[in-house]
Order: sequence, then C-alpha cells, then structure tokens
Amino acid sequence: MPEETKEAERPDPKRRRGLIIVNTGDGKGKTTAALGLAFRALGSGFKVFMLQYIKGKWKTGEKKLADKLAPEMQILPMGDGFTWDTKNPEQDIATTAKIWEVSKQAISSGDYDMVILDEINVVMKLGYLDPTVVVEFLKTRDPRLHVVLTGRGAPPAIIELADLVSEIVPIKHPFKAGIKAQQGIEF
Ligand code: ATP
Ligand code: MG
Repeated sequence: MPEETKEAERPDPKRRRGLIIVNTGDGKGKTTAALGLAFRALGSGFKVFMLQYIKGKWKTGEKKLADKLAPEMQILPMGDGFTWDTKNPEQDIATTAKIWEVSKQAISSGDYDMVILDEINVVMKLGYLDPTVVVEFLKTRDPRLHVVLTGRGAPPAIIELADLVSEIVPIKHPFKAGIKAQQGIEF
C-alpha cells in the first residue's frame, strides 16, 4: 500500500465529533460501561479523565489500574465525605460544587479527549447541581471532546442535550439473592 493512501486512512482528530454520552437507569453497568469506553478510547491513544461524584467504600479495581496508567488515564474520587445525609444538605451541596468546579477545569483544560463525570446524574436529581448549568457549560466545550455522564435518574435537560443515551434496566441482580458484592465485579 502506498504511504499516501495509508496516511489518508488515518482518523483525523480535527474531524472528530465529541459526543455527550449518558448511561442511566436502575440496572448495574453504568459506571462499568463508561470504563469500557475509557478502555477503548485509551487504545486509540486518547487521554481520559474520570471524576467520581460519589466515592465508594473501597479502593476500586478501576482506580488501582488507572493509577498505573497515569497520565493517560486518571480517576479522581472526590465524593469523599459525601454523606448523602439529607440532614446535612449544605455539606453535600458544597461538596458537589467543589467537584463541579474540578469538572469544569478538566473539560476546559484541553488536556483530555474524554471526560467521565461518574454519578453526576444522581447529584443533579437530588437538586445539588442545576442541570441547566451543566447543559450550558457542556455546550461551550471543545467540540472534539467526548463527555460521559453516568448515574441513575438523568434529568430531562441532560437527555435532551445528549447525543447518546442508554438506560440500563435491571432484570436480575445477585444482591436480591443475598450474594455479597464481589471484588472485580462491584468494586
Ligand atoms: P457498576 O459500577 O457496577 O457499573 P452502576 O454504575 O450501574 O454499577 P450504581 O447506580 O452506581 O450502579 O450503583 C452502585 C452499586 O449498586 C453497584 O455496585 C451495583 O452493582 C449496585 N447496583 C446497581 N444496580 C442494582 C440493582 N438493580 N440492585 C441492586 N444493586 C444494584
Ligand atoms: Mg455507578
């Protein structure tokens, strides 16, 4: 194959169309589907940044792997201290505001090809972050940047803005059969 043809077949980053991708619904697989996208994007030479609005109990498998893949892949669990205690909504709102500031910086930095805002749908649904603020900000992003938003209860304004929305429907979950969270599957 002549060199010129090979060159012409390579994807042109200038022609990339950044997508707004939403993984929502009550079934398991929203965060892991976003990590699957990250895996695919990393293989294409993209840089990926993931911010977690809700931090789990454990240091997850994905965080341990991301730390080895830095700086191509970064995961920042910021929901530390997030109580989800409606008795202290001020603290939760303040925590959310801090994470949103970091999200905006990551999106406008130009350092990444994909930014994943994990569980952001949940804080919007709780009323801690205004979906219209998020929508207006996302409209100003570099049009080549892919942004993934995960979590149950994606607000209508986010769904309207998105290019791709998937709802995961639960059919069976091992929790219902009394099976405890499994390492490598849940965390
Ligand atoms: P994952 O991170 O495994 O992709 P998720 O992002 O879709 O899950 P979340 O809404 O973030 O799910 O919920 C966090 C935890 O709750 C996960 O460990 C998940 O397995 C569990 N979970 C999700 N859906 C259900 C369900 N329908 N019943 C019970 N537990 C669930
Ligand atoms: Mg999740």
